This record gives sequence, structure tokens and C-alpha cells, in this order.
Amino acid sequence: MTDYDYILVGGGLQSGLLALALADRRPGVHVCMVEAADRIGGNHTWSFHAADVPPDVSRLIEPLVVAAWPAYEVRFRDHTRVVPSRYASVTSERFEAVVRRTIALHGWDLHLGTAATAVTAERVTLDSGATLHGRCIIDARGPSGVTGGCGYQKFLGLEVETDSPWPDQLPVMMDASVPQDDGFHFVYTLPLAPTRVLVEDTYFADGPELDRTVARQRIEAYLCQRVRRWRVMREESGVLPMPWHTPSAQPPGGPLVSGYAGGWFHPATGYSFPVALRLALTIATVPPQEAARAAAALARRLCPRWWFARFLNRLLFRLVPPHARWQVFARLYRTLPPAVLARFYALEFSAADAARIIVGRPPRINPLRAFGLSWSNP
Ligand SMILES: Cc1cc2nc3c(=O)[nH]c(=O)nc-3n(C[C@H](O)[C@H](O)[C@H](O)COP(=O)(O)OP(=O)(O)OC[C@H]3O[C@@H](n4cnc5c(N)ncnc54)[C@H](O)[C@@H]3O)c2cc1C
Repeated sequence: MTDYDYILVGGGLQSGLLALALADRRPGVHVCMVEAADRIGGNHTWSFHAADVPPDVSRLIEPLVVAAWPAYEVRFRDHTRVVPSRYASVTSERFEAVVRRTIALHGWDLHLGTAATAVTAERVTLDSGATLHGRCIIDARGPSGVTGGCGYQKFLGLEVETDSPWPDQLPVMMDASVPQDDGFHFVYTLPLAPTRVLVEDTYFADGPELDRTVARQRIEAYLCQRVRRWRVMREESGVLPMPWHTPSAQPPGGPLVSGYAGGWFHPATGYSFPVALRLALTIATVPPQEAARAAAALARRLCPRWWFARFLNRLLFRLVPPHARWQVFARLYRTLPPAVLARFYALEFSAADAARIIVGRPPRINPLRAFGLSWSNP
């Protein structure tokens, strides 16, 4: 059969969450997922905060979780803080297993190792030459579609098995006590098990170039200070745009562009889990022919928060000199209550939250940066 209620183009985070939401809320529909790679879910460790998941759908998301912690930590030169807010992680392996099980259970179609070469509002052409027809076509082919003015969040992560227990039991979201270069530089650690940890060398930088050799050396130096020996089990990396431009509107009459390519992510954190989940739940609540309208209504509701998050990126990347960016995050984590941080990450913050985020003593800014002119470090 090549006629579907929904065709999900791309088998990444957005499409997987859509499949889970459709299975839960519209179990009788017929769905097809098309993924260019030979497996779904890519090579990621996706993490999210408790407030990112509405309480009534946590039963949908919990099977994806491989590790969870009651709190997370941040470390800066001048202070450290434990934020009492649940943080959880999903691996690509678990994601693939759960989504594939759901697809099989409902008798839906999955095309792996098959690229979509043309995607319209009614049909998807595959590289085999076959054409699939659908009432609702959702294009979720990943971050490459993001264009325009932006900074970058770039990172290399090594998941390692250590010879002795990792010294931290909580995730360290930002260890910015490391030397600051190439923008805001920090190490992110996720202790997935007592002797298994993901260590990511991360930068909020002006350019997308990631020097993998340097990042790897830095991770090794960081590991050396904490354990004697380790074995690298897996590597992951990413270069995520942190835009400050307003994305162009969805072209009328085209497919519903979702996921990172459609702007369904948090511009100021690079996280897409909360926004992708909300879009998936919204789409799954209405019949296929109303999905685009429902997505547009959700986009209108999120619009002021997206605007504010992009405004923060503009301030961070255009006004604050790279070496001073850590001070912005140090202030936020020193002053904001856990509930405001949670709402900020979930892209559910209020106007009062936005005021608390923006008000405060800024680091020494460089107005010339806004015009592309530089200023040497003090
Ligand atoms: C390494 C890494 C870690 C991240 N960690 C987090 C995190 O902890 N929390 C968080 O919220 N966000 C995180 N992000 C950001 C964001 O969640 C991811 O980028 C997320 O995967 C985006 O979802 P997506 O579905 O839009 O794209 P993707 O997950 O990238 O999925 C797109 C899929 O489309 C497929 N595809 C591409 N072209 C075609 C084609 N022509 N035909 C068929 N299939 C195609 C790709 O192979 C891919 O599987 C991370 C990003 C990276 C890179």
C-alpha cells in the first residue's frame, strides 16, 4: 500500500516522537516512516528536563529513558550550584528500539536506507523511484535546513567506560571552570552508570568549525584529572545553529516542515526535545488534514518565546565578546530559581520570567561587535 494518513520523512527525534504520539492518540491511522540511513535515531544522547514533558504523557516518554537524575549541577569560576530538577537521557539505541516496536505493533511501514528525493504536500518520491501518497506529509529531515544569521553550539562527546567510579553522581550541565576560548566553553558530563560517562567538550561560538583533535585532547585532559584509565565506547558530535534571525514562514501548499529544519527547537539552548514533543502531541490530537493548521496555531503561541530566545542569541553572539560570554550564564545560574530555569528550558517561560532573565548586570559588552568589528581581550 502506498497511500497513508501520515508519511514521516526522516527517522530522527521529531519523527520518532510523532510515531509515539500517533500510536497513542490515533492508533487506527496508517503511517509510513522513510529514513535515509539504515537505522532510525542516528547517533545521539538526547537529554531533557522534567518540565519538558507534560505529566499526562510521561508514560509515553519513560520507555525511552536510559538514565535519570533528581538534579543537575553547574560549575563556574566563581560558584557552583546544584539545581533540584529532574534530568533524563535517551540514547539512540533505546529510541530506535521503542519506535520500531511501536511501528511494528501497529503494522505501519518503515523504509530504511531509503532517501526521499522530493517531498510535496501530497507525495514523497523515493530514491528507488517509487512514490508514496499521504494525507499529511511531515518533513523532518534534520538541522541542515536552518539558514541565516546565527551563532553555533558545537561539541564533541566521548562516552567512556572508566576503571574506577566517576566522581560525580549528578550530570554537570556546564563545567565552565575550564579555560574560556572560542566563545563560551564548557564541559558537559552525564554519568550514565557508575563507571560509564559521556563527556562533551562544548562551545557557544561564532563559527561552525569544530576542531575535533583539540576537543578530543581536552576531553582526555578532563578525564585524566578524574580517573586513571578509560576506554572510549562511542563518539558523538554536533554543530547546532543558534539563530537570531526570524525564520521564513512555512511555504503555503508544501509539506509540514517539522523538527530542527522547521525551527521546532529552542533557539537559545539548541534543545529540541520539549518543542518537538509538543508539536508531535499537537499533530496527533487532530485528524491528518488539520495537522498543518494545528501546527500553525502552536507556532503562533510559541512565537513570543521564540522571539525572546532569538533576541538572547543576538545579544550573546553580537554584543558580548566571546571571552566574556561565560559571565552571562554564571549570572543566570546564580540568580534564577529552579522553576524559572525549568520553564526557560521548556520554552514555557512567562513575560515575568523573561524580565528576570534579561534584568541584571551584563558583562562588559562590545557595541562594535554588532557591526562586525572586533575588540581585543582586556
Ligand atoms: C549529537 C547531538 C546531541 C544532541 N543532544 C540534544 C539533547 O540532549 N537534547 C535536545 O533536546 N536536543 C539535542 N540535540 C539537538 C536536537 O535534539 C537534535 O538535533 C534532534 O535530533 C533534531 O531532531 P530532528 O528530527 O529535527 O532531526 P534528526 O534527529 O537529525 O533526524 C533527521 C533524520 O532525517 C534523516 N534524513 C535526512 N535526509 C533524508 C532524506 N532525504 N530522506 C530520508 N531521511 C532523511 C536523517 O538521516 C535523520 O535520521 C542534539 C543534537 C546533536 C547533533
